[in-house]
Amino acid sequence: MRGVVVLGATGSIGRTTLEVADELGVAVVGLAAASFSADLFDLWKKHPDSRCVVADPERGEAGIFGDLQPEVGRDAVADLARMSDCLVINGVVGFAGLRATLAALEAGNRLGLANKESFVAGGELVNAMSGNADGMVIPVDSEHSAIFQCLLGESRAMVESLVLTASGGPFRGMSKVDLAGVTPAQALRHPNWEMGRRITIDSATLMNKGMEVIEAHYLFGMPYDQIEVVVHPQSVVHSMVRFRDGALKAHLGDTTMHHPIRYAFTYPDRARGASLRLPDLTLEFEEPDRDAFPALDLAYHVGRSGGTAPAVFNAADEVLVAAFLEERIGFTDIVSGVEATLEACETTDVTSIEGVIDADRQARAFASEVVLGRAGKVG
Ligand code: MG
Repeated sequence: MRGVVVLGATGSIGRTTLEVADELGVAVVGLAAASFSADLFDLWKKHPDSRCVVADPERGEAGIFGDLQPEVGRDAVADLARMSDCLVINGVVGFAGLRATLAALEAGNRLGLANKESFVAGGELVNAMSGNADGMVIPVDSEHSAIFQCLLGESRAMVESLVLTASGGPFRGMSKVDLAGVTPAQALRHPNWEMGRRITIDSATLMNKGMEVIEAHYLFGMPYDQIEVVVHPQSVVHSMVRFRDGALKAHLGDTTMHHPIRYAFTYPDRARGASLRLPDLTLEFEEPDRDAFPALDLAYHVGRSGGTAPAVFNAADEVLVAAFLEERIGFTDIVSGVEATLEACETTDVTSIEGVIDADRQARAFASEVVLGRAGKVG
């Protein structure tokens, strides 16, 4: 392998990926970020032989880079993902990551996929591409990496169900009424994981877990009634697989993204690392509160509907989470706004990326209306 291409290099996944590359002595051959920033420029100076791309040249100050200008545009990001014989870590936030995912797989690269929207919005396209090309997906989501590892050496016919664990987020135990008044600052305080802002809010609504159910469906080809969610506040068990004979295989580890990212680099081998001290652990499990956190059942419904419904679900959530972070809507308006968008937008079968982009665009437009209070249930 020639090296690693890091998409979303300045984000939380990107940063960790660069640490892992450093630790394993893997060359960094590509860096991409959404906007011009001093952080990206610093990374490029640290890896001067890499290609550097800014996806959206309208964002940030090009001047930061002085005479040394990076490549720009989404085509350049896809082009970076196509560099031959590379590990591509896709840590892009949101729907924008789908094109790079398809490009990396088409080029036959190993893809460490942290961009769950690739599967949520474009699962059918991603699976069609991995079926036809030499590229391979290694999940870089702690739950899916855990399931991927539990499934090694097992036949799918022996699997009873996949069990995704959920921390329950910062609002576990709260009622629907209490949740209406929570602030972005409270929602950004995740008990176990340090993550980007969108995914932290999605963890608080359980929207993230809902998306992970859809991600698991496409990634492991498992029907929705064979995907379970259990709340596990300690986040030590990253996920489990239940087998036909009643055996449960679990993957336990620290709550750090270093593990799944390192595994995407080394698979099928493993690097050396520290392990948990078992006597220090207490493990608890409980049912998710589906009434206080309706995002979970909504995700199952959307997943079963299929077609462009998950793309609409994801796009609406991106818009509504951004509005919540700007304090323009309340916390519970996120999920009710997503629901209103799903009711309003017509969904179709997925036949091309253009169709998905179109569904995404319509959903964003409607969700923005919801935010403005001009449509839907949010006032
Ligand atoms: Mg996860």
